[in-house]
Amino acid sequence: MTTIFFHSDLDDPKEWQAALQSALPTIDFIVGPECELPEAVDVALVWTPPPQGLRAFPNLKAVLSLGAGVDQLCLADLDTRIPVARLIDDTLTQRMVEYCLTAVFYFHRNMHLHAMHQAKRQWTFVPPVSASSRRVLVMGLGQLGSAVASSLVQHGFRVTGWSRRPKQIAGADCCHGDDALTQALGTCDVVINLLPLTAQTAGLLNLDFFTRLRPQACLVQVGRGGHLVEADLLGALDQGQLAGAFIDVFNIEPLPDAHPFWSHPLLRLTPHVASLSDPTESVTTVVENIRRAMRGDALRNSIDRTVGY
Ligand code: NDP
Repeated sequence: MTTIFFHSDLDDPKEWQAALQSALPTIDFIVGPECELPEAVDVALVWTPPPQGLRAFPNLKAVLSLGAGVDQLCLADLDTRIPVARLIDDTLTQRMVEYCLTAVFYFHRNMHLHAMHQAKRQWTFVPPVSASSRRVLVMGLGQLGSAVASSLVQHGFRVTGWSRRPKQIAGADCCHGDDALTQALGTCDVVINLLPLTAQTAGLLNLDFFTRLRPQACLVQVGRGGHLVEADLLGALDQGQLAGAFIDVFNIEPLPDAHPFWSHPLLRLTPHVASLSDPTESVTTVVENIRRAMRGDALRNSIDRTVGY
C-alpha cells in the first residue's frame, strides 16, 4: 500500500484521486490539510504545503509539485535528502505557448495603442509592421521558455533567449550573464518573463531592469509574482519606459480589490491562468514518479535543490 497526501487550494482532489486510482488501485489517498497518520505518508502531491509543513511527514519518500514551479513549496523547511519533482507535460507547455503568443501578437499588432485611442474616441491610423521587424526577449529557456521561443521563431519574430547557462535554440539568439541581459533589454520590443522564482531572480523586474529596456517596450509577466516590483512597474508605465504589460502572476493572489493594477489602462490582467496542469494529462508522469519514489529511483523532472528550480 502506498499512501499519498494531497494538498491544494487550486486543484480538485476528486479528479486527482480518480485519475491516480485508475492507474494505482491500491493507493491510500489522503486529502489534506489534516492527516491523522503522518508517519504513513509516502508521497506528498501538493501545490502548497499544509499548515503543519512537509516536515510533519517523517517517512516521506518524495514531494511532487502540482505545478511547474516549486517556489510555493517552502523548500527551505524540507530535508534536502527528500527528492522534489515538478509537474510538466505537453498540455501545460502548449497552454503557455498560446498565452505568450496571444500577448506578443496583442502588442505586435498595436492593440495596446488602439485600445488607448478607442478610449479617447480617436481614429488614429497605426500601420502594422512585419513580425520580422520585432524582437522578443524570452527570459528563462527551460521547458516552457524554450517552447515559447521556438514558437515565436516559427511565427517570424526575431527572438533572443536568456538563461543561466549557455543554451541553443534553432533560429533564436541565445545568451546568458548580466551583460548579455543588458544588451538584450536594450534591443527588444517585448520581454517575456519565464524564469523560476529563486533567490537570484526574486525582484529582478525592478526599476533598474525597466530603465535598461528600450523605451516603449512591452512586458509579458508569467513567471511568479515575486519577480516583479509592482510599484516600479507602475513608475515605468507612467514614465513611458514601458508601453504596456500582460500580467498573469502577482505578489498577492487573488489581487486585492484596492490594487492600482486593476484600473490601469496599460495593463491586461489574468488571474494566474496562463497555464495549468490537467490531471488526465499529467497523471502518467505522476504515477511514474510515485513508482520511482517507492523504488528509491531518481524522479522525472526532479529539481536541483542547490539552485532552487
Ligand atoms: P525550467 O526550470 O524548465 O526552466 C527555467 C529556466 O530559467 C532555465 O532556462 C534556467 O536556466 C533559467 N534560469 C533560472 N535561473 C536563472 C537565472 N538566475 N538567470 C538566468 N536564467 C535563469 O522552468 P519552466 O520553463 O518549466 O517554468 C518556468 C517558470 O514558469 C516556473 O518556474 C513558474 O514560475 C512559471 N510558470 C507559470 C505558470 C503560469 O500559469 N503563470 C505556469 C507554469 C509555470 P538554465 O537553462 O541554465 O537552467
